[in-house]
Amino acid sequence: MSIFEELNLRRFLNAEDTFTANGASCMPEEVYRAMREISGAWVDLEQMQRSTGEALARLTHNEAAYVSAGAANALTLCAAMAISGGERETFLALPDSSRCEQDQVIVLAPQKNPYCRSIAASGAKLCWAGAPGEYLTIGELEAAVTEKTAAIFYFIYHGAALCPSLEAVLELAARHAVPVFVDAAAQLPPAENLWKYTGMGADLVLFSGGKGLAGPQDSGLILGKRRWIENMLALGAPHEGICRGSKVTREAMAGLYAAVKRFVSCSEQERQEELLAKCAQAQELMIRFGFLNVRLEPFGPVGQSSPRVLGRPAGVSGQALRKALREDGLLVGWEEATGDISFHPQMLTLEQTREACRILETRLRAEGIRPAKEE
Ligand SMILES: *Cc1c(COP(=O)(O)O)cnc(C)c1O
Repeated sequence: MSIFEELNLRRFLNAEDTFTANGASCMPEEVYRAMREISGAWVDLEQMQRSTGEALARLTHNEAAYVSAGAANALTLCAAMAISGGERETFLALPDSSRCEQDQVIVLAPQKNPYCRSIAASGAKLCWAGAPGEYLTIGELEAAVTEKTAAIFYFIYHGAALCPSLEAVLELAARHAVPVFVDAAAQLPPAENLWKYTGMGADLVLFSGGKGLAGPQDSGLILGKRRWIENMLALGAPHEGICRGSKVTREAMAGLYAAVKRFVSCSEQERQEELLAKCAQAQELMIRFGFLNVRLEPFGPVGQSSPRVLGRPAGVSGQALRKALREDGLLVGWEEATGDISFHPQMLTLEQTREACRILETRLRAEGIRPAKEE
């Protein structure tokens, strides 16, 4: 009996995106291998964080690195470090932030998204610059900076069109000596994002280990300036404190290391060629079955450099098709504004993409839709 049967689970192929709720990625063999290997013995976790961080920093051209329990936990940890200043007693009192001299962090209101709660979980007071859905000027952002400001958080994807650029925010923050933390959780590929934002001057940047990197689902990657990472090593799990409940296992550290090593060893050209080959399969099928406005988009649903195919099915609504496919074992995206189906193969292997296309074709035929040539 398979684990799917034992636990009464319906499996599906993920051609939507790296969304955590769908299990994001499947880990490649080298990641499992590293996890199995480390699992067979005991190591000192604190020492492992340090040496894994050093290796991750080298791989990503950063000063220092830290493995967190997912990107959401990385937000909590970064905020906790910012408001406590890395001072032990102040940190241990969190989420009570009454001892913090600077207990506020600035979030750009147009970037407001559910992950902001993970920042607030540290005990930091969220200070919103501007208003959601409205254009935010750099002057308005500057007006939000006070002597209580411990950091500015910047999300790469959310609300991008309404916000000052990261360059402008970094320039402003430097003038006020305020650190900037960048959430780029789902912004891979390209691999260069692992060093781009910190290279621009961000103090720290964080990524989800289980999304584009295809590492363990419960891992996150924090990259950047050494002084922040040193405080995380001294105060983060397995030490007691606000992050004790989000411990990082040796399997997660070893798995994330193997995943990052694999991710950066692939050239961007190779990666794009493989992604495009997968897209081509879906594109051919959608054209053959009379989808309207079939097109290749160079970006994934959250703006990562990962191509996908969009098109509106003829003879069935996109929403109904998405629902039926989910029952068939294939998850695709659906764009409400256009009625398009989005087929995004970032998470699939070539073989899984072929299987996904088979499922799509079978469903289209079951809906009475025939390819042009057979008509
Ligand atoms: C997915 C995501 C997170 C959380 O990532 P986990 O690794 O699932 O904790 C945080 N921020 C953004 C912008 C994300 O897309």
